[in-house]
Amino acid sequence: MNQNERIAIAGGGLVGSLFALYLAKRGFQVDVYERRGDPRRADYVGGRSINLALSDRGWKALERVGVADEVRKEAIPMYRRVMHDKAGELTFQAYGKEQEAIYSVSRGGLNKLLLEQADLNDNVTLHFNMGVSGLDLETNTLHLEGDDGQKVAAQYDRIFGTDGAFSRVRNRLMKQDRFDYEQRYLDHGYKELTIPAGADGKHIIETNALHIWPRGEYMMIALPNPDGSFTCTLFFPFEGDPSFSSLKSEDAVMKFFKEEFGDAVPLMPTLAEDYKENPTSSLVMIRCYPWHYEDKVCLMGDSSHAIVPFYGQGMNSGFEDCTVFDDLFEANNGDWAKTFAAFSKKRKPEADAILELALRNYIEMRDKTADPDFLLQKKIEKRFAERHPEKWIPLYSQVTFSHIPYDKALRNGEAQDAIMKRVMNRPDIEQVWDSEEVEKAILAELDA
Ligand SMILES: Cc1cc2nc3c(=O)[nH]c(=O)nc-3n(C[C@H](O)[C@H](O)[C@H](O)COP(=O)(O)OP(=O)(O)OC[C@H]3O[C@@H](n4cnc5c(N)ncnc54)[C@H](O)[C@@H]3O)c2cc1C
Repeated sequence: MNQNERIAIAGGGLVGSLFALYLAKRGFQVDVYERRGDPRRADYVGGRSINLALSDRGWKALERVGVADEVRKEAIPMYRRVMHDKAGELTFQAYGKEQEAIYSVSRGGLNKLLLEQADLNDNVTLHFNMGVSGLDLETNTLHLEGDDGQKVAAQYDRIFGTDGAFSRVRNRLMKQDRFDYEQRYLDHGYKELTIPAGADGKHIIETNALHIWPRGEYMMIALPNPDGSFTCTLFFPFEGDPSFSSLKSEDAVMKFFKEEFGDAVPLMPTLAEDYKENPTSSLVMIRCYPWHYEDKVCLMGDSSHAIVPFYGQGMNSGFEDCTVFDDLFEANNGDWAKTFAAFSKKRKPEADAILELALRNYIEMRDKTADPDFLLQKKIEKRFAERHPEKWIPLYSQVTFSHIPYDKALRNGEAQDAIMKRVMNRPDIEQVWDSEEVEKAILAELDA
């Protein structure tokens, strides 16, 4: 391993700033190029305060470079889903075992913290307002452009593309022969809304929960912020009725919200204004292969595998890229060519699986969480898993609270689902769901 080699990271977002810490820990000289300004500066004009769910795969990646404790200080545990029906009635569903939680963290706050930590290393240089405009693969030269129009070219031994779903680095790889690429938009988009803090500065609905208003074709969710507010996200079709395009006036918006999310409306005093002012954003999925070029360039995070947000795994899978890469680098004794090839090969099926799981979870969240049969099935699974933890880990827990590769979790989940379909077919299942008989039936299915 040659510590004198020069490494560039294109994109100082969540994954790029974390991966800079991994490379710094190994003693490499790293330049991080970020198109936007420095979010730590007082004059930074950033996005609104949105939050993300951080879970075990993400925590593991943060722990390995010693930043998890700092993140934990601002993270809010969410132990359960709270489903709000149209009448305002609440149903609860624990995410995992007691004390197992997903954590609400501020995207901007987390990015700032990771950049700050990266900046503490003498061998990391952060370049803000400096976007990658092109890449010469022959010489491994990055072409960079400052927001003041300044153009610079810099040559590197390795270049990591962590510049998000619309990656410039990936764009260059796409011109290579036999590079597969697929981009797909969901028919649904999203809009962020707010439930502000109460008069006492505290949350006005349950703090330690992810709130869902499931409505079949669409849904709203809310995640808590440390300042007592909630960031709500409405996931909604772009077209049709109802949809973003059908709600044309303020009256139509308010009428729709009162009908569909009646218990939330009194908690959202700026709803009409937020709905009008906040952008409607699209949801894109990216798949590509391979994720590397020779031993020179490697993609990570959304640049190679952007997914829809319904399993809360986009950032977590990007963070897991860092730990998986680090393990492979170690196993291959610092051989870049072998590590890049092994990384692409291992991660591609895993990323495809979490994309599929995230798409399926959209249906589950917006539709099935309001379905009594589905909730009963989950109760049966939970009971069985508690009694036979060595035989059954619920799919949600495999994805969220374990490090089982996503593709294996997908296969396990499909096998479990087939069993549960047969169990749920019993006409008396509602009466006998917590009986020894049902437990034995599942055991027999597992042994079959
Ligand atoms: C509505 C929504 C909710 C989500 N919720 C969750 C959640 O709960 N849990 C979860 O795990 N994930 C969630 N995600 C996914 C998560 O946001 C992404 O997976 C994650 O941000 C990917 O990190 P990244 O660093 O790869 O890309 P990004 O965060 O997009 O960062 C890319 C960085 O590169 C910079 N950049 C772009 N182009 C250039 C260039 N040419 N030169 C230099 N810099 C450049 C950008 O400015 C940015 O800073 C959600 C996503 C959405 C849209």
